[in-house]
Amino acid sequence: MCDSNDADIIMRFTPELLSAVNQIYTLWELKNAVKGKENLLTYSKCKRCKMIYCQNIWDDLTLRQVYQNSIDHAKSKDKILSLQKRLELTRFWNNILRILILSGKKRFNGLKVIDYGCGWGDFSELAQGFGVDVLGYDEDTIKIEFFKKRGLKVATNIDELKSFGPVDVFAMISVLEHLQDVEYTLNLAKELLRPNGLLVFFVMDFRSKYINKNVKKLKNSLPALTKILNPVEHVNIYDYKSVRSTLKRYNFDFISTGLALNLTEPFLIRNSMFILNTLNKIEWLSARIITGKGLGISVYALNQK
Ligand SMILES: [Zn+2]
Repeated sequence: MCDSNDADIIMRFTPELLSAVNQIYTLWELKNAVKGKENLLTYSKCKRCKMIYCQNIWDDLTLRQVYQNSIDHAKSKDKILSLQKRLELTRFWNNILRILILSGKKRFNGLKVIDYGCGWGDFSELAQGFGVDVLGYDEDTIKIEFFKKRGLKVATNIDELKSFGPVDVFAMISVLEHLQDVEYTLNLAKELLRPNGLLVFFVMDFRSKYINKNVKKLKNSLPALTKILNPVEHVNIYDYKSVRSTLKRYNFDFISTGLALNLTEPFLIRNSMFILNTLNKIEWLSARIITGKGLGISVYALNQK
C-alpha cells in the first residue's frame, strides 16, 4: 500500500504446515518446489501501513513448480462443480449487471469483459452470451487447455489482451492476493478499462482478530486455521482498509461490496453516495463482529481516468 520496505516477520511456515491444511497439495512436490527457500515462507507486516504480505518475490521456476506440480489439478477442477461456488459467481455477475443498469445501460451492445486469472473458466462461461464478449487470461496452461476446449476465448499473452481493449468490465476473481506485482496489473486494468469502466474483484478479507489467532498457532508450530494463509500463493493479505487504500492509490472509486449494493439500490437511484458508503462500512464491520474470521469479499469500483 505504501512504498516502505520496513516490515516485521509475523508468521513462518513450513511445507508440512502448508500441506496439512491444504488438500490439493502433494507434500513431496511442494517440498521440492521450495527446497532451499523454506526460510522465505513468511508473512511480514509493514511498520508504516500495516499491510500483511510476503516480502519475498518468488522466482518463476518456484511458482511454476508450486502451481503446476504441487497442486492436484483434478481436485482443483473438481471445486468448480460446487453449487455454492456457482451461486457466488452468479451473484457476482448479477451485481455487475445491476451496476451497469444503474449507470444507464439498457442493452448488451458488445459488452466487453476481461476475466483476468480466468482459471478453469467458470466465471467466463457464466458471463458470456449474445451481446457479451468475454476474454479470459491465465498463466496456468493446464487450466487454459480446459478453458479452450469449452469454446471460451482466451488471450495467450498480454499483447493479445491489450488489443481487446477498451473494455467495460475488468474482473479478477480470487486473483489480487496471488499477484506479486499488483501495481503492474492494476495499471493494466486502468489502461484497458473505459473511463467509468468497472473493476470488480473477489478477494480474501482478513480481520486482525483472525490474523492474531493464526499467528499464535504458527508460533506453536501448529498449522494455520485456514489454507488461505499461504505465502507462496497468497502473497498479499487484504482487509477492508487495505482494499480501500489500494483502490484509492490507483484512482478507482469504490462503489460497493456486493451485499451493500443489494441494500442500497433504492438509495443509489437517488444518488445518495453518502448512504451507500455508510452502509458499505456497516456491512463490512458487522461481518467482522459476527464472524471475526477471514471472509471473501466482492469489491466493485469505477475507473476514474
Ligand atoms: Zn506499507
